[in-house]
Amino acid sequence: MRITPIVAAAMACAAGLPAAAQVTAAFEDESNAWSYAGPTGPAFWAQMPQYPACGGPRQSPVNLPRGSLQAPVNVAVTYPAWSNGSIYNNGHTVVVTPTVTTGMLRLDNVPFALTELHVHVPAEHTVQGHRYEAEIHVVNHLRPNNQLAVALTTFIAAGEHNPGWDALIAALPGHEEQRNPISGAVNLVSLLSLGNLPAEWLYRYEGSLTTPPCSPAVTFLIRQAPIVLSREQIDALSSAMVRNARPLQPGQPVQLHRGSP
Ligand SMILES: [Zn+2]
Repeated sequence: MRITPIVAAAMACAAGLPAAAQVTAAFEDESNAWSYAGPTGPAFWAQMPQYPACGGPRQSPVNLPRGSLQAPVNVAVTYPAWSNGSIYNNGHTVVVTPTVTTGMLRLDNVPFALTELHVHVPAEHTVQGHRYEAEIHVVNHLRPNNQLAVALTTFIAAGEHNPGWDALIAALPGHEEQRNPISGAVNLVSLLSLGNLPAEWLYRYEGSLTTPPCSPAVTFLIRQAPIVLSREQIDALSSAMVRNARPLQPGQPVQLHRGSP
């Protein structure tokens, strides 16, 4: 994986599917050169010659401190539903890539194109020391150069069964390089309860990919309120992937914002 200013583009994590790969393949490393355990695990990423940024500044994830109210964050998403979707196991996580190209997140009126979403079990970020069951990264890239990304992050807490997730859970590919079709439409707004996003409380900070090459080019927008899945649904997610949470990185300024509807 080359690390150049262009590479600083990147995605919030390892991910990947053909549609996204057309623009982002050069920015990521989905290889088996790294892992989450043993001699290629997170403690050694920075020592690997191809991943120097993993030992550099503004690394993610971090613990999110109690925040004081800051200026409102201006964020909105337009994520159309899509059909003929699939979910892919790349050996590091499971990835869902839109089959439409019109998904958009606007941060401070700057448009970022929806690229993919993937899952970390358990959550990577902690909130005042509390670690949620899982964390979803919805990755959006600044076009055309893809030099910056916004990771819209949603925590998962355990609770009631969430029927909106049934189709996705049923499609989970348990084996590396396995891809399964998702029945019905994929609607991120309902899947992640994004309908009131502009008025939500969000943590915001400038971080990095949480996977090699750890490019310091990701703005995290982390929703304070989790979505809820049942224990059985969370266990299904967990069994589809390795424990893929990078350890917490040295802290950096994080602010808590409220949206500006
Ligand atoms: Zn991620």
